[in-house]
Amino acid sequence: MTKPKTKITPAAKSANSKSGTKPSPKRKPMPRSPYTKEEIKEMFRRFSIQRPEPKGELEHVNPYTLVVAVALSAQATDAGVNKATRALFAVADTPQKMLDLGEDKVREYIKTIGLYRNKAKNVIALSQKLIDDFDGVVPETREELITLPGVGRKTANVVQSMAFGIPTMAVDTHVFRIGNRLRLAPGKTPDDVEDILMKRIPEEYLYHAHHWLILHGRYCCKARKPECDKCVIADICKSKEKTCDIPAALVELPAQPF
Ligand code: SF4
Repeated sequence: MTKPKTKITPAAKSANSKSGTKPSPKRKPMPRSPYTKEEIKEMFRRFSIQRPEPKGELEHVNPYTLVVAVALSAQATDAGVNKATRALFAVADTPQKMLDLGEDKVREYIKTIGLYRNKAKNVIALSQKLIDDFDGVVPETREELITLPGVGRKTANVVQSMAFGIPTMAVDTHVFRIGNRLRLAPGKTPDDVEDILMKRIPEEYLYHAHHWLILHGRYCCKARKPECDKCVIADICKSKEKTCDIPAALVELPAQPF
């Protein structure tokens, strides 16, 4: 299992979970966990055996193309984004090349992706901003990343983790569902779920936790019908939707399909 590049202290863990947002004076108290610390540790230990090196499924060739790919992925599947960006990144893998290509051509490349008109605008605007304010280099902090057009907290978290090795918890639809369904991190908003997960997931598993939860949600704990008979944490899970108590065999899974 790859270690994060940065050592996570409890203070950093907490600060990282909140940096980039306005201070929130009325943060809700954390709900009581139905899991013991040992149970949570055991869940992630099993995920780490199933997928020792989990990877994001968005194709990119450098931090800049990762920012673009993640920004394009809102309300779209990773596979759909990859299909469009393969050709786009072959001709434009830097902010300047993207600006040289121009909005009309960017729109043509990404027209199979939902909301492509707006997204093409944002790709051009964020490329311009990178050149104007950051010398064409993708910044590492969440505060700076979210100043880029089309880049919100979730995108910034993904970029920090995948491009710079900073442990973050980007809460997408799968992570949000799992946090609530398992009662591991119950919350009404992605920020609530992120905060709780950042506090409950043991430090040694935090770096890969985001991908483990996404992949578990995508391939096992599915939205419509969780496949509990294939689940390696079925004996630990405290979801009311659980249909099986016997954990699946704990083996390393084949590389994930793209
Ligand atoms: S037991 Fe079922 S509900 Fe619980 S995590 Fe596994 S797939 Fe999801």
